[in-house]
Amino acid sequence: MNPKVLSHLAGAVAAVGVKDENGPNACIASSAALIAGAKPAQAPLISLALDSDSHSCACVERERVFTLSVLSEETPATVIGALGFVSGANTGKLENVRHKVLLEGVPVIKEKTCCWFLCQVLEQVSLRGRTVFLAEITAGSDLSAGVPMSVRYYREMLHGSAPRRSPLYLSPELRRDQLGGESFVCTVCGYVYNDPNFGFEELPEDWFCPICHLPKRAFQRKK
Ligand code: FE
Repeated sequence: MNPKVLSHLAGAVAAVGVKDENGPNACIASSAALIAGAKPAQAPLISLALDSDSHSCACVERERVFTLSVLSEETPATVIGALGFVSGANTGKLENVRHKVLLEGVPVIKEKTCCWFLCQVLEQVSLRGRTVFLAEITAGSDLSAGVPMSVRYYREMLHGSAPRRSPLYLSPELRRDQLGGESFVCTVCGYVYNDPNFGFEELPEDWFCPICHLPKRAFQRKK
């Protein structure tokens, strides 16, 4: 495994590809972390924390395999909306997301992603509603393309939100403090529009939320 490619996983937002009863599925996580100390001859180790009650967590527990596709700053925000804000239990999340399915039945996302890794679970620990999987990377890209999307980029450049159960979730009050000025919030995913140079009312009627793709009417003025 190329250390330069591995380094793109650090601190990045990634799509976690899983296999469920109906086929490939995916969610979004920023919790994947490389574990230092593995011997060079051994497969690299990583940890990944998921909400213990999530559909994806149940899939990884059962199948013991998942992929990580590192998103880039060029990955459309709608991919995060499609994979990150709905449960995979009852929706075809990958329907409109370009991907390939590996032999192991898990998907690799191909929406301007930087690189991908195939991970086999070795151990797992459950604590306070989170399950941490310890896994080894058994395959992956030889090269990485683009700039990995950091959590900070997602927050500050895309004004991205996180689902309510995520440790990165910010309450509307905190988000308002961060952004300042007049803001309009998507009632579904929490994306906040507050471009001081282009008022929300001036946006065309067919404008839609860049994260979850819902129409302009799904937005409310922040009080
Ligand atoms: Fe939205």
